[in-house]
Amino acid sequence: MHRGIGVCDGIVISKAFVIKKEEIVFELNSNLTYQEESDRYNQAVEKFIENTLELAAMVEKNAGAEQAMILEGHTIIVQDPEITAGVVSELENSGVTAEAAVTAAFDMFAAIFASMDDELMSERAHDLEDIKTRLIEILTGKISRGIEDIAQECIIIARDMTPSETGRINKDIVKGVVTEVGGITSHMAIMAKAMELPTVLGIENMLSMVKTGDMIAINGGSGEVVINPSKEELARFEKLIEEFNVYKKELEVYKGRESVTLDGFQVEIAANIGGLEDLESVLKNTAEGIGLFRTEFLFMERESLPNEEAQFEVYKQVAESLGDKPVIIRTLDIGGDKDVPYLNIEKEENPFLGYRAIRLCLGDPEMFNIQLRALLRASHYGNIKIMIPMITTVTELRQTKEIIERLKNDLAKEGKAFNKDVDVGIMIETPASSLIADVLAKESDFFSIGTNDLTQYTMAVDRGNEKVQYLYSTFEPAVMRSIYNIIKAGKDAGIMVGMCGEGAGDVNMIPFLLACGLDEFSMSASAVLRARKAICNLSKSEMEKELDKILDMETREEIFNHLQRLAK
Ligand code: PEP
Ligand code: MG
Repeated sequence: MHRGIGVCDGIVISKAFVIKKEEIVFELNSNLTYQEESDRYNQAVEKFIENTLELAAMVEKNAGAEQAMILEGHTIIVQDPEITAGVVSELENSGVTAEAAVTAAFDMFAAIFASMDDELMSERAHDLEDIKTRLIEILTGKISRGIEDIAQECIIIARDMTPSETGRINKDIVKGVVTEVGGITSHMAIMAKAMELPTVLGIENMLSMVKTGDMIAINGGSGEVVINPSKEELARFEKLIEEFNVYKKELEVYKGRESVTLDGFQVEIAANIGGLEDLESVLKNTAEGIGLFRTEFLFMERESLPNEEAQFEVYKQVAESLGDKPVIIRTLDIGGDKDVPYLNIEKEENPFLGYRAIRLCLGDPEMFNIQLRALLRASHYGNIKIMIPMITTVTELRQTKEIIERLKNDLAKEGKAFNKDVDVGIMIETPASSLIADVLAKESDFFSIGTNDLTQYTMAVDRGNEKVQYLYSTFEPAVMRSIYNIIKAGKDAGIMVGMCGEGAGDVNMIPFLLACGLDEFSMSASAVLRARKAICNLSKSEMEKELDKILDMETREEIFNHLQRLAK
């Protein structure tokens, strides 16, 4: 049995699908004749078509006709006369290998497509990249398998996964994920939670212990992973699956209920989303609003910047789906572990301390204006509030608010509808903003505490680095005191204080947050009912009596054990 970091409840038993990302190395210059290299190329194309049609048939069975059609399209692209001419000309003129000719020609066409404004065309660049890799794999005989190759029910085993790869997972067939690296609040983990995908991170050397087809049992809550389980282990996991199903049934009674403590204190339990695809789960779990819409995912899943109209449509749809419930939409928070390749942001030594979030937006006014205009226009269709991430100074907040006012004037002149009183709030997720929370509260309509980054920056520990995860805990006295001070500063100023970091959905943290007077708890939709159950079974006044004691505690263990007792 191996134990990693469990990030999303759920117990599954299935076959492993190992994804190894290896750079395929090949010779550039050929010692074969032109004809020989040309034959190699033609045979590779034939093999490609054969493989792809087989794969498409499998995909159609497991994932549907639409996914299969994309693959079938690849068999046409690979025979495109212009691309073929490009490869042939490389072979004729440069004396290179078929691998090098394919790379040169496909990269050239991909660059042309990528630069086109048309979304459909720029999507083609992605297809070309995919086809190129597969052709080279056939030519070199070295196969590296990716998410798109999955055609049967499985658990993905990978060294790591980016948020966009996670987003491409087909949940109908992928039952779970195990990785070697990654932290509990890495964005991959957050997406896995949103997708309700049982996931375990940080199991060292996993790739060397397991091969595709091995049986795997995982517990996404406790972080347990068993490779090729024995009969007894299988029976234990099957029992856990039954218990988990019973527990989920029990939570059903909290659907649609108000979130009120035993002594009558009402809070709001909202959900975090990354896109329209998360709305179904928000409604199903009866969240009382959206406490965080991470808009960067909208940018990450595309090949080019979404324009004002495209963004407006998405924000409007989210607002309308929630009716009059609050919808907090966060402006772009790119950087750190969230990359948007087409923005060509320079690589940095310390991306989490670098050009990210509001810093990047203020540095790219054109991109920021487009998003803010789309948000303002969408505010006409629901209860939208705008939230700014990674604030460290009051100047950043003032600059942003000035831009918003200017854009409101523009929209008014253009006769476009928007909510002129739209709330503008900020995330408090840096020690700097926590320390000046009283100053920021005077100019913010609300706060939302981002415990993921607040913990990372307060403890000086990279949230995605499993080697230092032992230091990463929101229950550390330093972080707890910071949270208390932020809530107090917000409450003293009379503004709403929420939390949208992972701390908000942690049932062991909830007694403390209730004692501090937190108004809104925002979490992945799958955690809403569990949190509502916790809140409905606690008394705020009883928790308040514990507050001084908790704030005086000296270690994380002391705090955690105490809160765990209160949460029971
Ligand atoms: C946070 O930092 O707690 C947060 C909610 O933002 P993100 O996880 O997207 O950085
Ligand atoms: Mg953050």
